[in-house]
Amino acid sequence: MTRYVYDFIEGNKDLKDLLGGKGANLAEMTRMGLPVPPGFTVTTEACRDYLHTGKMPEGLLAEVQRHLELLETRMGKSFGDAKDPLLLSVRSGGKFSMPGMMETILDIGLNDSSVEGLAEQSGDEHFAWDSYRRLIQMFGRTVFDVPGEDFEAVGPGQPKDLVYAYKKVFEAHTGRDFPQASHEQLFLAIGAVFRSWKAERAVLYRRQERIPQDLGTAVNVMAMVFGNRGQDSGTGVAFTRDPATGRRGVYGDYLRDAQGEDVVAGIRNTLSLDELDRPVRTKLLSIMERLEQRYRDLCDIEFTVENGTLWMLQTRVGKRTPAAAFVIAAQLVDEGTITLDEALQRVSGEQLAQLMFPSFDIASAPPPLTTGVAASPGAAVGAIVFDSAAAAAATGPVILVRRETNPDDLPGMIAARGILTSRGGKTSHAAVVARGMGKTCVCGAEELVIDGDSVAVNGRTLHAGDVISIDGTTGKVYAGEVPVRPSEIVRYFEGEITAHGDPLLAAVERLMIHADHRARLGVHANADTGPDAARARRFGATGVGLCRTEHMFLGERRQLVERLILGDHTALADLLPLQRADFEELFAAMDGLPVTVRLIDPPLHEFLPPLEELTARVARAEALGQDPGRDGVLLTAVRRMHEQNPMLGLRGVRLGLVIPGLFAMQVRAVAEAAAARVAAGGDPKPEIMVPLVGAVQELETVRAEAESVLASVPGAPPIRIGTMIEVPRAALTAGEIAVAAEFFSFGTNDLTQMTWGFSRDDVEGAFFGRYLGLGIFAVSPFETIDADGVGELVRIAVTRGRAARPDLTVGVCGEHGGDPASVRFFHEAGLDYVSCSPFRVPIARLEAGRAAT
Ligand code: ADP
Ligand code: MG
Ligand code: MG
Repeated sequence: MTRYVYDFIEGNKDLKDLLGGKGANLAEMTRMGLPVPPGFTVTTEACRDYLHTGKMPEGLLAEVQRHLELLETRMGKSFGDAKDPLLLSVRSGGKFSMPGMMETILDIGLNDSSVEGLAEQSGDEHFAWDSYRRLIQMFGRTVFDVPGEDFEAVGPGQPKDLVYAYKKVFEAHTGRDFPQASHEQLFLAIGAVFRSWKAERAVLYRRQERIPQDLGTAVNVMAMVFGNRGQDSGTGVAFTRDPATGRRGVYGDYLRDAQGEDVVAGIRNTLSLDELDRPVRTKLLSIMERLEQRYRDLCDIEFTVENGTLWMLQTRVGKRTPAAAFVIAAQLVDEGTITLDEALQRVSGEQLAQLMFPSFDIASAPPPLTTGVAASPGAAVGAIVFDSAAAAAATGPVILVRRETNPDDLPGMIAARGILTSRGGKTSHAAVVARGMGKTCVCGAEELVIDGDSVAVNGRTLHAGDVISIDGTTGKVYAGEVPVRPSEIVRYFEGEITAHGDPLLAAVERLMIHADHRARLGVHANADTGPDAARARRFGATGVGLCRTEHMFLGERRQLVERLILGDHTALADLLPLQRADFEELFAAMDGLPVTVRLIDPPLHEFLPPLEELTARVARAEALGQDPGRDGVLLTAVRRMHEQNPMLGLRGVRLGLVIPGLFAMQVRAVAEAAAARVAAGGDPKPEIMVPLVGAVQELETVRAEAESVLASVPGAPPIRIGTMIEVPRAALTAGEIAVAAEFFSFGTNDLTQMTWGFSRDDVEGAFFGRYLGLGIFAVSPFETIDADGVGELVRIAVTRGRAARPDLTVGVCGEHGGDPASVRFFHEAGLDYVSCSPFRVPIARLEAGRAAT
């Protein structure tokens, strides 16, 4: 028969799955001989069973009863005794800490007669009745959902009177008397703690923290100790190091004559640990030192002092800020407590990312205008602009404010300090692009009413040029300028400052060096320009994994693309020198390192004005009796090229096969730029990458053309030709494709889109919220690679590709390349490198090192 209950003395800190974090750590402290009130833990398995069937698992209550009897023997008191009652706390505690999200009930075992016994025993009537009052309140709220306000409405009073009044509230709400049988109290409390796993706020918290919803909570039942027995009693919390900065030295808060959560609730001003009575303080410090040694990490603890005796009520490896995480990891290495490999496991790419964003000095911020979705962290201040052209033309810092963004807004997004939209969520265009660029973005701020050149929000209207501040870490939008602090870490990576003398920078430096040393996965950058590539290189990229050549067709060069689309092939000759110059700059910035140039990918009509706009212009001209001229010709072209599903239409390799000379021009530009670099004494290592291939024949055709162009350029270095794997068919036929490709690069954005059949531009508002709610996925597959589905295609392609060509280089260049969880997946799938935006390069480096240790 399954066993559901473990005494504290039976468990240990490694049993968190079964006993929950709190239970496992209480057991560990008990084993260490620390002063923990005796007790036992009901397993998470019992909770899962209960939540599944709606009933207490068979045999559970009998098992609880047996452990309770042991506890009574040990304490020399009995539960429910009228003269000297044993009182219990019933505490939640899942595998992962969820502070304050679930329930705990104190003082179980008090009733109308044992309260008298407790008063007599303790010689403290006030204390006894106040404890009973607390029980009725906590029990009522937790077990019977009596609204907390109903108790509060009673107001202050003598404890005895309050007990009377609270019982009335309880009866009014539940239609029954407050349970007097202590066993009934206990069993009902255990059930209520089980159910608190499903409380709305707990579900929400787990979703946010990516904690699985099916783990269940354990329940800890333990003897009560009392911090509310006068001036030599009290309760407190403490940390073995400063959880904000990581600085050495204990930190904590203490409250005299208090119980439970009074400290956290902030009702009274707390004391520092220095003010504890000396013997208690000495003992507490020595316990904290032992805990650090045992857990080899920062610990936080909850303790209570009852008449001068110290009791430990909880410990765990403590939460900390990202900065403290790095500092403490490095400290512990210095102290000889952990190895550098372990230190790498103590920090994460997410934490590094948070340290790389600038931040607002919140203390000096006004109340926010509104709050949207925190889509891309950081703090940005600037004048409002409503379109991309204005952003690009602006001389000072600007915030691009749009209903939503589309690829046309890219120049504006690049120019702006931050992006604010009123529509769309975390995977909207604005959000994805901004995150990629490391640019602050708040999206889906639905209260904003954007109308041409003004934006109204909650009765205020702002105009172009008005200054706003947006916080991409919290989603808050402020009017006016909130002071910003730049990230020191970024200044360090940029080479503006050294790590010398700064504990945080020194810690980051040390862990980054170790990560690079361990990593098997290389980190390249997605960069389209020389300055981008140079920055990526400063951030530690060892190549460009994706240069999107279409980004070289924006701005004034659009005209050339228009000419091309209208059938003027001389446009290609005009584009050639422009592309060549771009590549030369890029190769120079990445001299000696590979630069993967992707041939043009998006549907060409993306370079033309939108259909509606053109139609309106032509109609206006005609209404005025004017010749629409070039607009008319363009309109015909746009109509001709209009597609129902452009993402599945004429793009990628298909363009190369349909539009003669387009790819050849790009290949020539690459080869000539490389030859020029060689002539200038450089060491360019370009590669040519063909997008959207689904069949080897497509690649063979483009390859033949490219090879003949390459052969015709004198002085060019060898240039490898490879393909993106972003169509499921390409992954499945990777064995054939590898024969014609010297490298693969997974385009996981398109691969995800096509594998799931989700349009990445539309899913967000439509149904992702619902999908996340239903748990169909815990996180958007566009953010973190779907390891089971899309990931399986990656594994298949790697295996089949390498079988056909053992020296095949395999990388990834989608958004996922900079996502910590995905980096780990790519390491395990055996890829050679990931490529991500320059800003995320350090994050990927850290994660690549972590994945390899
Ligand atoms: P949370 O997980 O939300 O922190 P806890 O189970 O730790 O909830 O309980 C909250 C507080 O209740 C503890 O910090 C402690 O002060 C008090 N408490 C819990 N058990 C006992 C006990 N056996 N004796 C005295 N106080 C207790
Ligand atoms: Mg606690
Ligand atoms: Mg693609």
